Amino acid sequence: MAANVKMDGDFHVPEKMKAWVLNDPGELELVEKPVPAPGKAEVLLRIDAVAICATDLEIIYHGPPAMIQGGAPHGKNFTPGHEYMGTVAALGPGVDELRIGDRVTVEIHAGCGQCKRCREGMYTSCHNYGKNYGSVDKGHRANGFTTDGGFCEYQVNNVNTVIPISDSMSDEEATLVVTAGTAMYGLTELGGLVAGESVVVTGPGPIGLLGVAVAKSLGAQPVVLTGTRDNRLEIGRKLGADHIVNVRREDPVDAVRSILNGAGADYVLECSGAANSFNEAARMVNRGGRICLAAFPSKQVEVDLAHIVRNNIYVFGIRGEGKSATHRAEAFMRQKRFDATLVHTHTFSLDELPEAIRYAKERIDDAIKVVVKNDAGRNHGMLE
Ligand SMILES: [Zn+2]
Ligand SMILES: [Zn+2]
Repeated sequence: MAANVKMDGDFHVPEKMKAWVLNDPGELELVEKPVPAPGKAEVLLRIDAVAICATDLEIIYHGPPAMIQGGAPHGKNFTPGHEYMGTVAALGPGVDELRIGDRVTVEIHAGCGQCKRCREGMYTSCHNYGKNYGSVDKGHRANGFTTDGGFCEYQVNNVNTVIPISDSMSDEEATLVVTAGTAMYGLTELGGLVAGESVVVTGPGPIGLLGVAVAKSLGAQPVVLTGTRDNRLEIGRKLGADHIVNVRREDPVDAVRSILNGAGADYVLECSGAANSFNEAARMVNRGGRICLAAFPSKQVEVDLAHIVRNNIYVFGIRGEGKSATHRAEAFMRQKRFDATLVHTHTFSLDELPEAIRYAKERIDDAIKVVVKNDAGRNHGMLE
């Protein structure tokens, strides 16, 4: 490490580490890489646990939204993985916000800090996304998307992407903070949700389930969850859904309107990505209500725009977990306002990543969140 990187003799950092890299689509290989050195405003984290996200599967098998050196991420020695947590192992020059040995989790986007959106605080919509290489280096980082991520033993993070966590939070739970943070950002900053408003969440995947939990904690009333899998809907009930609707047995629009006495919801968080989900959301929401689109269909869909226009419906996409929403999600989790570990179903070791990915992709054994732990890496650091 460079002389201006602050280290602690009690926390040994090796020079090389194990890292998975993405070769052809779907092909991951375990290689040895140098442990990266933190620069200005960065820390080095020893990665203790990393969750697999549906977006990781998109990146590994198809490429986007990852963008490495201006193009597809395959065959570029790129390490994916973005929902990780760990222990601060070294401090870059000038960093005094954190200490070596701190347990932390991360959010993904460190914007460039220079573009119009970053200047507005919308760093997850940075206009310089992916521009962090060679002569176009704008300083943007999104680990696991545009820069190396968490399917390895160590990674550098901008201090703005690091969230200290409570000692009482397990490693597995800490990997879920960023998912809850995405739901938080959609409900509060983007959606302006206030206590007492009604919320429908469509699709009980990780964001949908934690969307239920965050909405309930924010005082939404009632919270309705729709989906196709009873076991996931039951988890949603435990996380705070007042009503669950299995769309295989009931028409979701009729069910939501009946629960809300015909009025429709103030807010719909769309997390299913089903082809008909947008038009259904538009008919679940009330006049003047809001729809946040947090999942995307694989094909273009026809939209009843006239209905949106006539009913003054606000529609917006969501990109990541901006405005420090992860910090507020962590605060809810620290206060045990909901038990995010209900969505964690499986744990594997770092060496078993391909098997862990197979579980997540094929939803083997009802997998929801699959977490990969690096317990072997703990032998490096001695501050435990
Ligand atoms: Zn993710
Ligand atoms: Zn920017």
